[in-house]
Amino acid sequence: MDRNKFLKALGLGLLSGFTMTTKEFEKWTDGLSETGSKMPVLFVGHGSPMNAIEDNDFTRSLKALGRRLPRPKAILVLSAHWLTRGTRVQVVDHPPMVYDMYGFPKELYEVKYPAPGAPALARETARLVKHIRIEEDHEWGFDHGNWSVLRHLFPQADIPVFQLSIDYYKSADWHYELARELRALRRKGVLIIGSGNLTHNLRMVDFHDLNAPPRDWALEFDNKVKEFLESGNARGVVEYEKLGQAARLAVPEPSHYLPLVYTVGLQETSDEISFPYDKFHYGTLSMRSVLFS
Ligand code: ZN
Repeated sequence: MDRNKFLKALGLGLLSGFTMTTKEFEKWTDGLSETGSKMPVLFVGHGSPMNAIEDNDFTRSLKALGRRLPRPKAILVLSAHWLTRGTRVQVVDHPPMVYDMYGFPKELYEVKYPAPGAPALARETARLVKHIRIEEDHEWGFDHGNWSVLRHLFPQADIPVFQLSIDYYKSADWHYELARELRALRRKGVLIIGSGNLTHNLRMVDFHDLNAPPRDWALEFDNKVKEFLESGNARGVVEYEKLGQAARLAVPEPSHYLPLVYTVGLQETSDEISFPYDKFHYGTLSMRSVLFS
């Protein structure tokens, strides 16, 4: 029974003998009911995992952004660091931490983000998508694409969070179409966050200078995609490979770009676009964040 039918039945007294405390009732109706207003959609360039524990211009921008975002009922994260064959949704009550990075200081492996999972919403999300089958996943936890961002955005870790994996064997266009099907979540109080980087070429990164001036190809690609975003040219974003050499250098493989494709697929025509952060790290990583609201 959906919520409306339930409320009607309640009003008509059809549920006599059905007892529920207010708290239980709230919990029961706290699924994917429509809230009327739409939640924003956010893409975050997460950069180095060290951002999780550093205080810099970028992490301060995330903190400020978190304070002005509406409080969601739940957060769905599409992380560049959960790549799978097929699409999986995290159905876990208390997702464990996943420290999917190597050679960093001990402190980074001690970070905890103890937000609860959202298994009911995760199952609803799988049901929402009709054109492919989304598998339930009971193993994956919160990877650093998730926690390195959320601990700044929502430091209380008191909002349920779940992740959807990225099928690494599918095209950008395929991901865009999947995102279109997820749009309904925005009106159900779910904040969807894509976590990647608009430009991401680890072979070209010099991790010595956080504030190194951006390379030409990184600037060119970031600017072109920014223009596509500002003019509502979703096709341009999806067909990024047409940008030639700059695209080949900026996106040598698509793990960090695809979360952006999802956020563009989730866009509605009435959305306003803004860029809460738009600098580069290490001369090659575009840390641009994109907010549709
Ligand atoms: Zn990453």
